Amino acid sequence: SQDAAYRVSVAPLGGLGAALTFVDVTEAEQMGQMRRDFVANVSHELRTPLTALLGFIETLRGAARDDAPARDRFLAIMEREAERMNRLIRDLLHLSRVESQERVRPTDRVDLASLISSAIATLRPLAQTQGVTIETTGIDGPLPVPADADQITQVLTNLIENAVKYGGAGGSVTIRLSREALPRGPGIRVDVIDTGEGIDPQHIPRLTERFYRVDGHRSREKGGTGLGLAIVKHIVNRHRGRMRIESEKGQGSVFTVVLPES
Ligand code: ADP
Repeated sequence: SQDAAYRVSVAPLGGLGAALTFVDVTEAEQMGQMRRDFVANVSHELRTPLTALLGFIETLRGAARDDAPARDRFLAIMEREAERMNRLIRDLLHLSRVESQERVRPTDRVDLASLISSAIATLRPLAQTQGVTIETTGIDGPLPVPADADQITQVLTNLIENAVKYGGAGGSVTIRLSREALPRGPGIRVDVIDTGEGIDPQHIPRLTERFYRVDGHRSREKGGTGLGLAIVKHIVNRHRGRMRIESEKGQGSVFTVVLPES
């Protein structure tokens, strides 16, 4: 292919010339690079809160020792940083679990409509603090799909949480249900639609990469780990579903997941 790189080795064949071996190393090298990037990212993400924690421990031992209000303030920041590490480790474990699983077909049928209702119920308090409304439209009634309930709940929670977080205060989040055919049969389509600021087109193909963020500062401020969409992508693949992202700058975004109905 156009991007292929080859490792060439020359083996002399005694007075008969030489044999040339071409080995395509592109993929192996890319994998190696991705692994190194991942380790570097994880280290950086863990080190940032850890450095803050160590700094505050130092301060509490010294200058802030006899200053009760300052102590309380620093402890609150330390708690936030520790929670950040906790979320990161939780998401890393989730990701490694879904990455290592094969694309087995879940045998249990779960009702997608009730998973959506409970995901919304979980996120309602967060939405209320942002003045964001959440509503559902489209197909009414139960929607049985073969799926792992916990994993699909995680997909829905990640997408709806992002729509609330990045959708902008006072906006609305709509979850629209419809049917869409997949190559192997019928599927249920879930669109998570927000009225936020949207995403520049050049970022869209990279959003499902681990730790990829459009605005790192903003994501961290909102408690993001940068792993949410990577987890979504893996879970959807594992269910033989499809995922798409569409966005219009200034209008909002639509994150679509289609899951097989059988
Ligand atoms: P994070 O933990 O940072 O939210 P995700 O993997 O869930 O990580 O999302 C990756 C990035 O994609 C986010 O940091 C944000 O920049 C962007 N993003 C995700 N969802 C939305 C959305 N609904 N609107 C705008 N940007 C979004």
